Amino acid sequence: MRPIVAHLSLAALRHNLAQVKRYAPAAKIISVVKANAYGHGLLNAAQGLSETDAFAVLNPSEAIALREAGYTQPILLLEGVFAPEQLLEVDRYRLDIVVHQVQQIAWLQQAALSAPIRVFLKLDSGMHRLGLSPVEYPQALAALAACANVREIVMMTHFANADIVDGVEQAMTTVEAVMANQPYARSLANSAAVIQQPQTHADWVRPGIMLYGASPIADQHASMLGLKPVMTLQSAIIALQSIQAGESVGYGSLFTADQPTKVGIVACGYADGYPRHAPTGTPIAVNGQLTRTLGRVSMDMLAVDVTDIPDATVGSIVELWGEQVPVDEVAQAAGTIGYELLCAVTARVPFKHY
Ligand code: PLP
Repeated sequence: MRPIVAHLSLAALRHNLAQVKRYAPAAKIISVVKANAYGHGLLNAAQGLSETDAFAVLNPSEAIALREAGYTQPILLLEGVFAPEQLLEVDRYRLDIVVHQVQQIAWLQQAALSAPIRVFLKLDSGMHRLGLSPVEYPQALAALAACANVREIVMMTHFANADIVDGVEQAMTTVEAVMANQPYARSLANSAAVIQQPQTHADWVRPGIMLYGASPIADQHASMLGLKPVMTLQSAIIALQSIQAGESVGYGSLFTADQPTKVGIVACGYADGYPRHAPTGTPIAVNGQLTRTLGRVSMDMLAVDVTDIPDATVGSIVELWGEQVPVDEVAQAAGTIGYELLCAVTARVPFKHY
């Protein structure tokens, strides 16, 4: 076995769920566990989030996996159904659905369901991705209210800019214009809005990334926000090299030493999900000491500077991200966001939860 492993802390998941409650005490929590729980493993994550009020996923297959594992909470399909036949699974597994376009309403009106379901009607508040326009929305609301297959309506939106201070002002004007004076519950907030837009908390919040202990806000560290990293991606040094000034490391010779340098070769590469575009200098820890990557990340390996870590040897533990190296810092160095790195961990990395 290669030494790479992704450790998952169920205690951190529980802690982060409790933090959501602290930020939004009056709201019920829909834990977003789509994309294999942002790369953490759906059922692993669900175990740590078992106290949540509801789950949200993308595909019916994910919802079915949760039901078959015994979870009885509401499960929301975040994009609803992609074809009318899927309403049979919605019915069978007692799922909630998002409706974001008018054709889905027609499917719902024509479906033969054994019992009416809860529907989240999505408003486009400015993202212009999914959702009914403010003009279409009232009519859709009336159609759902009159539909025998609908037992409850929740009005929802998803913000384009909740991570920016004042980033939801315009969207909230749209929300209020459309949703004021309607008798239905609301679900508006993702993680960034849970943290910094309290006016959006409403009845149901939908946090994703904060549950996994990463920050949804570029200039705020997860630890400052009271979040704990759930995943620690760990591996080990499998070879050591000593190079002289003028010698290089890895494909393309992207790093050339300007002094004698001790290099550790780590069993982790882009085929494990580590970003290939992480440049020299990306933070990484060896034996608990922070250091930097060197040169090009290859498929199965990357190089790390251990010149100032005298006890570094073959077998030394390397943290790619986790408690010592926030995933957001690795992401920033690689020009992306923590979400992408977490989701990208590949199936060949074994997971262990504790
Ligand atoms: N709600 C919807 C509709 C989403 O698509 C997502 C994720 O993209 C979330 C909530 C959770 O977002 P975040 O992970 O930023 O909290």
